[in-house]
Amino acid sequence: MPVLSEVIAALDALWPPERAEQWDAVGTVCGDPDATVTRVLFAVDPVQEVVDEAVQLGADLLVTHHPLYLRGTTTVSAGTFKGRAVHTLIKNDIALHVAHTNADRADPGVSDALAGALDLRVTGPLVPDASDPAGRRGLGRICELDPPMSLADFAERAAKRLPATAQGIRVAGDPQRTVRTVAVCGGSGDSLFDEVRAAGVDAYVTADLRHHPASEAQQHSPLALVDAAHWATEWPWTEQAAAQLDEISDRHGWGLRTHVSRTVTDPWTAHAASSAHNH
Ligand SMILES: [Zn+2]
Repeated sequence: MPVLSEVIAALDALWPPERAEQWDAVGTVCGDPDATVTRVLFAVDPVQEVVDEAVQLGADLLVTHHPLYLRGTTTVSAGTFKGRAVHTLIKNDIALHVAHTNADRADPGVSDALAGALDLRVTGPLVPDASDPAGRRGLGRICELDPPMSLADFAERAAKRLPATAQGIRVAGDPQRTVRTVAVCGGSGDSLFDEVRAAGVDAYVTADLRHHPASEAQQHSPLALVDAAHWATEWPWTEQAAAQLDEISDRHGWGLRTHVSRTVTDPWTAHAASSAHNH
């Protein structure tokens, strides 16, 4: 069985921490480098529900996409919700490791997993990483939809293939419009509208789209928008990441047991469709 430092070295090779954004907080939050690892749980959010799931499972390592602490802290008191998560993890000998924007920019990365879930063929990154001569790494992905389909059908596919959330899928644009090319960005993607427009795609799949950027994108050109729950757009990465660690474990004969959390940690819990008679 490997020790934590060996597993972390393997994860860092998949998602090199130096490729994370400057403002990000990736890497190991807690854990003993010499502790043996047998069971690993992958999840999007390091919230208490997921930490409790790791305890139930007997996991030694929890790997999440979102950081527990993005900014500094002066307390891990169990009186705070983040401190409580730290206490639960340490009391149960569970390490926490974060791969955030370094996993976004990787090849394969978070948006490859999202494209895969939607059965899209990736042709390249939306924002190529200047430090990658092969041009495979970067933020977001540009994809082809084969065969092309209407925006309404594509949205149905997203609703079916992504994990279920209260939000479901929001769509902007003519539902009958044909979609052939798609840009995808797991997580909040409204900072990439300029790149999406430059790519000249028919549709953009991302999360957390706000009124003004979405409205301006619509005014600018007939770009269809498919907005899913933030958690749902990043969850496919947990399956991809677990499969990557399985492959490494097999290669080294580690015998690791990997698991993917299916707990919905999107904060939105209900959706009420508007009544047609509310004016
Ligand atoms: Zn995210």
